[in-house]
Amino acid sequence: MSVDYDVIVIGAGNAGLAAAATLQRGGQRTLLVERHNVPGGAATSFVRGRFEFEVSLHQLGGMGGPGPLREILDEMDVTRRLRLIQDDELYRTVVPGVLDVTLPADWQGAVEVLDNHYPGNRAALTRFLGIVREVGLWQLTARANLHRLKEQTEWLSGLSDVRRYGLRTFREVLDEFFTDERLKFVLSSYWSYNGQLPSRMSFMDMARLLALFIETKPYQIVGGSQALSSAMLESFLEAGGEVRFNTSVDKIVTRGGRAVGVRLDDGETVSCRLVVSNAPSSTTYTRLLDPADVPAGVLRDLGSRRMGPSATALYLGLDAPAAELGFSTATNFLTADLDERTVARGMRSLEPAPFLLASCYDVRPTGFAPPGASQVNLVTIQYADPWEAVPVRDYQQAKAAYAASLLDLLKAIAPGVRDVIEEAEIATPVTFKRYLSQPGGAIYGFDQDAMDSWLFHEDDLKPNVPGLVLVSNWVTAGGYNSTIVTAARLSRRLLAVL
Ligand SMILES: Cc1cc2nc3c(=O)[nH]c(=O)nc-3n(C[C@H](O)[C@H](O)[C@H](O)COP(=O)(O)OP(=O)(O)OC[C@H]3O[C@@H](n4cnc5c(N)ncnc54)[C@H](O)[C@@H]3O)c2cc1C
Repeated sequence: MSVDYDVIVIGAGNAGLAAAATLQRGGQRTLLVERHNVPGGAATSFVRGRFEFEVSLHQLGGMGGPGPLREILDEMDVTRRLRLIQDDELYRTVVPGVLDVTLPADWQGAVEVLDNHYPGNRAALTRFLGIVREVGLWQLTARANLHRLKEQTEWLSGLSDVRRYGLRTFREVLDEFFTDERLKFVLSSYWSYNGQLPSRMSFMDMARLLALFIETKPYQIVGGSQALSSAMLESFLEAGGEVRFNTSVDKIVTRGGRAVGVRLDDGETVSCRLVVSNAPSSTTYTRLLDPADVPAGVLRDLGSRRMGPSATALYLGLDAPAAELGFSTATNFLTADLDERTVARGMRSLEPAPFLLASCYDVRPTGFAPPGASQVNLVTIQYADPWEAVPVRDYQQAKAAYAASLLDLLKAIAPGVRDVIEEAEIATPVTFKRYLSQPGGAIYGFDQDAMDSWLFHEDDLKPNVPGLVLVSNWVTAGGYNSTIVTAARLSRRLLAVL
């Protein structure tokens, strides 16, 4: 029986774009359906006044050296369409009055800087970062090869540090190697890239982040994540793919329990041999599908998962150059004190922000701000609950108060920012829930702590309903690398069986 398309991809976020481009370039006639008017999902930008604001990308890893993302984007013919800028530094970490440390994106350099700040730790640092590297590089490869479980197990038998440390929490392993809380704090700075505090995050997940950015270097993209999304779309269209924007998929059509097409919001039904959903897994299995078509085990597993954190972001267009404001490093982590419990409380309350990531896109200009001006995004990790409890009439005031607290914390590195604000926009978990259609406004999918990591959910990527696969940060780790690399590799494997 003839079908309209070989493949229909629901959603043009990172994962949907990577899947669509890979499948179309592999010879499958593919239709991409996106409810918004631009590609990217969270990987996008918006314009206010003279500024174009990056929504979500802070540092892009995986692009230098043997980077997994670089390999995928090369294969998709996307890299040549991008202009990349390498960051000089990994990050700057500041606790006002307690510590101010800038780490280079280099294993030995990181040992030198930390040993200078906290003498007597050189041997422990060398051993610790060696383990981080081994575990991190294993993680980056293992995630891509879940379908080769036998080889993975054999490989793992030779990696004693991965077996010994991988599933412990990052905090436990830090405690085994170091006593100085400040040193441990600096090494934990990337916790917000996974949304789990060091006492909850698995060592292997933190090791993956550190290895990704140190080994393959942090990059910025000229034009930001929207340039990346547009480049992936361009590659898809050049290969003959078709896209429909401003179009939602209302239902995945099934026949005899098999996905055979989609129903669009205007009532049109389009048929295909394979549906790829970039929508969240709970939405796909319980709203787009009739749950009767979904195996009971999959629904049970969904019910056992916890919604991951969202974020509150203050986007600032500043009428002054970055250096004049005090920004020497693109990526800056600021925290009120060393106590993890302070940050944990802040994630579930509207108390003054105890933590923020300040990204300055003009230390080396990425083209977002006009000459002489700069863009700075302040992001803190929060769950949606405290914001959803705010009555509508108090919402604007709550946003203004929270923004003021972010600016207060920022004073430690850039005291003059308030005086040069030209544009300011604040997005809360409620905003991300509405614009990104993500349950709980979650920015990385499900909560992935050491007890519930990707390693325990390898079924997520399997076709649990015949004719349907899922690609998004709900079935892999959050972030640019995971979503793009996993979706492209899965699609490559699908090409072999389609
Ligand atoms: C504020 C913020 C900061 C972040 N910081 C970083 C960072 O520094 N580094 C990092 O690596 N990651 C970061 N992330 C996370 C990263 O952006 C996400 O993990 C990633 O972009 C998710 O991609 P995705 O393809 O899974 O989903 P999405 O980007 O959510 O894309 C899903 C797409 O599907 C579409 N869609 C859904 N349902 C339908 C339907 N029924 N019909 C049609 N279309 C549909 C949506 O409109 C959307 O375009 C951040 C995210 C946010 C929001």
